[in-house]
Amino acid sequence: MPLDAGLLGDLAGIVGPHHVIVDPAIRAGYEVDWTGRFRGRAGAVLRPGDLAETAAVVELCRQHGIGLVPQGGNTGLVGGGVPADAAYDVVVLSTRRISWIGDPDAVPGQVAVGAGTTLAELQRALGRAGAELGVDLASRDSATVGGMAATNAGGMRVMSHGTMRAQVTGIEVVLGDGRIVSQMRGLSKDTSGYDLSGLVVGSEGTLGVLTALRLKTIQLAERRAVAMIGVATIEAAVEIALGLSRDRDAGLRAAEVVRGATIERTCAARGTAPPYEGRHDWHLLVECAGNLDPLPAMARVLGDHAGLIGGSALAGEGRQLSEIWAHRERLTEVLARLGPPRKLDVSLPLAAMGAFVEGGAAALGRLVPGAEMHVFGHLLDGNLHLNVLGVPDDAGEAVDGALLRLTVDAGGSIGAEHGIGRAKRQWLHLVRPPDEIEVFRRVKQAFDPEGILNPGCLLPDPLPA
Ligand SMILES: Cc1cc2nc3c(=O)[nH]c(=O)nc-3n(C[C@H](O)[C@H](O)[C@H](O)COP(=O)(O)OP(=O)(O)OC[C@H]3O[C@@H](n4cnc5c(N)ncnc54)[C@H](O)[C@@H]3O)c2cc1C
Repeated sequence: MPLDAGLLGDLAGIVGPHHVIVDPAIRAGYEVDWTGRFRGRAGAVLRPGDLAETAAVVELCRQHGIGLVPQGGNTGLVGGGVPADAAYDVVVLSTRRISWIGDPDAVPGQVAVGAGTTLAELQRALGRAGAELGVDLASRDSATVGGMAATNAGGMRVMSHGTMRAQVTGIEVVLGDGRIVSQMRGLSKDTSGYDLSGLVVGSEGTLGVLTALRLKTIQLAERRAVAMIGVATIEAAVEIALGLSRDRDAGLRAAEVVRGATIERTCAARGTAPPYEGRHDWHLLVECAGNLDPLPAMARVLGDHAGLIGGSALAGEGRQLSEIWAHRERLTEVLARLGPPRKLDVSLPLAAMGAFVEGGAAALGRLVPGAEMHVFGHLLDGNLHLNVLGVPDDAGEAVDGALLRLTVDAGGSIGAEHGIGRAKRQWLHLVRPPDEIEVFRRVKQAFDPEGILNPGCLLPDPLPA
């Protein structure tokens, strides 16, 4: 049943009639996720403009038993930001209008920001003040800071600055029962009780709707340099990256890895060539940054590892640097065009990655001969993104199950930085014992007693009594 006209009128009274979207053609963009794999139907899309409107919308939906799916930039890769199915008794709550950036100089080393602000918008504003955020993602033009906090996003610089959780020093959030929790004072130290922001960060919209955040900032690095290197094994890539991370002058801040077959496939699709000759089983992309030019230290460390290096390209600031980064940053988009792929984002002990990829490719070959396992990721975080092409829908669950079980057997986690969402909630039991899932349910009950926030996301359905 579509939403009741009286309720739609009351919602329009809160957010304004232009910000209650019921037209199916406009709604459609909010009902399908970035990958195109997850779609549902919402009774309406609501676009509140601030905290008060958000709290009033949540309270009204609570009174009417309407589920709410918080959505930021809709770049999530596990289906958590769109409705689960064709259920009209769910609305999408888009935070994109809650976009503002506080004075970066008001509290040293911090900035207050509206949850619907995109990362790129924040980066531009901080850049003008000589600062930047410790987290960076290729989806920066659309991903919002609220969505990044809700997924505890990682990205390219976790090895030096941590995930989104490490950047958050305060939140403003509307809980499922309409309560507002605001911890935006910007105190560097506060041990007065439970860390509610720590719980909301990474909760994927199931505990509250974030309307504002206070984030740590870091000094903008003045000089950058990148290198892309062809190597024979992932172990060699780790050895080189660790060599750079130990060198104080190099200032390593990103170490990305891409499987050789993945570079070849995506370069062909983009009509471009890899940055050096020859076929290599793995490619390592490293970025160093600091106030002095990191290129000489970088070249010296790479020289020390010459025996492991099959081909390489180095670049300081400029077009060549962006072209090298494009080999890594365009992967998600290009593989999406070739697919959609089945996407699995896993983390593993560094020493287990090589055997895991070999075992995963062999298992895939047995299940779906001819399917392609493309692999890239954040090397020193042990975080690999598996993108499997050529899997028919009816084999999808078997493929996911096999690869996720291999992950757990190798001592890893089935969710590294994209979250659990709708994609992996039925696999949560592989990494979380029943007692922990029960504690999750109790936390959910405390924040969202009527279960209206993001139904069908993160938590598995309870077992039948
Ligand atoms: C090209 C590309 C590259 C990417 N690279 C990375 C990467 O390197 N690292 C990484 O971690 N991720 C990456 N991602 C995934 C994605 O960009 C991140 O998960 C990002 O944090 C999602 O932000 P969003 O605003 O788009 O959130 P959405 O997709 O809109 O939502 C994601 C989840 O957060 C919840 N949510 C959104 N806003 C709020 C809010 N205000 N309050 C409460 N809950 C909310 C939603 O309900 C949903 O569960 C990439 C995606 C793409 C398309």
